[in-house]
This record gives sequence, C-alpha cells and structure tokens, in this order.
Amino acid sequence: MDNKEIFRTLQAQTTPFPIGLEISRAEGLFIYDTNGKAYYDLVSGLAVTNIGHRHPKVIEAIKKQLNTHLHVMPYGEFIQTPQLKLAEKLNEILPENLTTSYFVNSGAEAVEGALKLAKRYTGRQEIIACHKSYHGSTHGALSVSGNPVKQSAFKPLLPDVNFITFNKLDELDRITKNTACVIIETVQGDAGVRIPELCYLQKLREKCTETGTLLILDEIQTGFGRTGSFFAFEQYGIVPDVLVIAKALGGGMPIGAFVSSKEIMDCLTHNPMLGHITTFGGHPLNCAAAVANIDVILEENLVKEVHEKGEIMKELLSHSLVKEIRQIGLMFAIDLETEEITQKVVERCMERGIITFWFLSCPASFRLAPPLTISFEEIEEVCGVICEVFDGINS
Ligand code: PLP
Repeated sequence: MDNKEIFRTLQAQTTPFPIGLEISRAEGLFIYDTNGKAYYDLVSGLAVTNIGHRHPKVIEAIKKQLNTHLHVMPYGEFIQTPQLKLAEKLNEILPENLTTSYFVNSGAEAVEGALKLAKRYTGRQEIIACHKSYHGSTHGALSVSGNPVKQSAFKPLLPDVNFITFNKLDELDRITKNTACVIIETVQGDAGVRIPELCYLQKLREKCTETGTLLILDEIQTGFGRTGSFFAFEQYGIVPDVLVIAKALGGGMPIGAFVSSKEIMDCLTHNPMLGHITTFGGHPLNCAAAVANIDVILEENLVKEVHEKGEIMKELLSHSLVKEIRQIGLMFAIDLETEEITQKVVERCMERGIITFWFLSCPASFRLAPPLTISFEEIEEVCGVICEVFDGINS
C-alpha cells in the first residue's frame, strides 16, 4: 500500500474528503509537503503554533528534557521539575485566584476536569453552556457543546445541561443557585469568531458570583496571545473561577490544563480521593515545551503587536467578495456569500500555498489564525494572494 492508501483505509478519518497534504517538515510560518512545496500555515495548526512551528527554544527544551527523563509516575505522586516549572509559570502570568494547575493531555480533557470540579465543589448538578459553543469531542465536552447536529447521534449525553444564547444579557437570569457552573468560550471560536459585548461578560461574572456558580472560561482557542492579550478575559476586566487551556499552551506539544484556586482544586483530593486522574497528563516533555513556549511569548513580546497586525490584516482583506470579517487580534472569521464559495476559496488558497480552514459551525466562513510571529511584510504578501484568489472567484 502506498501512503495515500494507508491514510484512507488504515487511518480512521473523520470526513470523507480529508485534504491529504503529505507533510515532510514544518518550520516557523511554513509547512512543507513531500514535493518540497512551502505552505503558509495561516491557521497555526488550528490555534496551536502561536509562536510558529518548531521554535528553537521549544526544541531545545524538549531535547534537554529528553536527556533527563520521560514518563515516570502519574497522578501527581512524584515531584517532577518540568511540572513544577509550568505550574509556577502559569501562576506568574495568571490573576491571583488562579493559582493551581491540573495538567491533562488535551482541551476536551481539561473541560472534563473543570466540569467535574465544578460539580464536586458546589455540590450542584446543573451546567449551563452556550448555543453554538464548542468545548471538545469527548462525552462530557460534547454535552456542553451547543451543536444539536453533532450531539444527536451520540445521545444520551450528560443530564442537567442547559443552553443559553451567547451574548444575550436577558438569558443570564437562567443562572440560579442550582447552577454548578457556566462554561463559556471568552470569544466563541468554532461558531465563527463571535465576540461578546464587554457588559455581557461582566454581567455573567456578576451573576455567577451572586449565585455561587463557578464561571469556567474556555480559553483553549483564545489563549496565549491569540486575541491581543495573553488571555482574552483580560480585555473584559473579569477573572474566571476555573480557566481551561490547551492548544497553544504546549508550543506544538499536546498538553492542556484546568486552573483554579487551591481551595477549589483541593476538592479532587478527597471524597473521593483521586477525584480526577490521568496517566499521561503533565508529561515532562510537554511541560518543558510549554514553559519554553510561554517564555518565548513573554521574551519576544509577541502579544504586543497582535492588535495592530490583526487590524492591518482585516483592512487588507476587505474585498467585494467578503460579506463580513469578525476579528479579534489574529483570530478571524471571514464570511462569504455561500458554503460553495468558501469551499473554493479554501481550495484555491491551498493551491497557492496558503493554508486556511473551515469552522465547525459556520459553513459559509473560513478561518485565519496565523502565528503571532507573522511579520508585517508577510501579512501584506499573504493577504495579497488571498485577494487574488477572491478576484479569481469574482471574475
Ligand atoms: N474548546 C475550544 C474552544 C476549542 O476550540 C477546542 C478545540 O478546537 C476544544 C475545546 C477541544 O480541544 P481538543 O481538541 O484539544 O480536545
């Protein structure tokens, strides 16, 4: 069998039409296929490689850790330096109530842990989430993802999950003293970059505090500089009770975390003991990579220019084919007239050496989320090519 056949038959697929680009290597802003063709990765491996592919400092940290130890013992039983350093680093960059980190392997797993934590801490059962949200594909995370089509084939899901409309103030009254938690993306990603009003998130925070409900902010897609601040919640003057992070945390390595106060997190240590466990969560290689990744973002001051780069990109992409651009920092949803046009744009960009992608719940839009390291010249270049693709479809 050749590689394409193995890919199609022996490797499980989630769509009937995977892109099937065969990768030879990736570096910085670029992915190279096996023919040596370079592609601008304008989606950062879906909001993962915020500092670009294979940043030298991340590679160095991984190599250094390789020379000491890999997996030794799970469940937080042993003291492992990379885990300590990452917990400390997160503590340094997060507000004072978010002191204590629990490391997992992915975003969905961080969501699972956060939901369990909220139920355990409050002793309540009801979970409130938003329509059109996406929090992951495992049973619990799918239960709180507001996409009835994706949910319906896998029912029954978690009970006592109720949905409210994102950014709709009057629905916040549905949060009561029976609600264990509200889980919400600070900016909805897969719904097509939906940016809430300042007053919405502030009122949500107030309502959660008033009712003793834990506010879980999902910054899995928005974290690590993507929206123009280290975390998007900083732009809204609020702080969650539990923060979930993953994707860009590991600088290209698979790691997630849920972070809360020590008081809340301590619930997982008794009644029952070992309230949440994972064998590979907080793997030393991934923690070492994550520490280097955060250092790179801080040392290279990568967040500073994100707003400006985003604004310039938005301006350069305004075109008669585009119906609307929703953008915060370097996170974009570009609405076109139809799903068919979107399909063509994504395909033609690919032919021109630019990787863009679709959204899960916004079929007539495509996404852009370039590495924060993209330069102003590169922004001009890629936007020029994308506009040529738009021209080709218009003519
Ligand atoms: N939450 C948000 C906002 C996401 O965008 C994603 C993934 O796209 C997840 C959770 C799930 O993360 P993972 O795919 O690592 O399980």
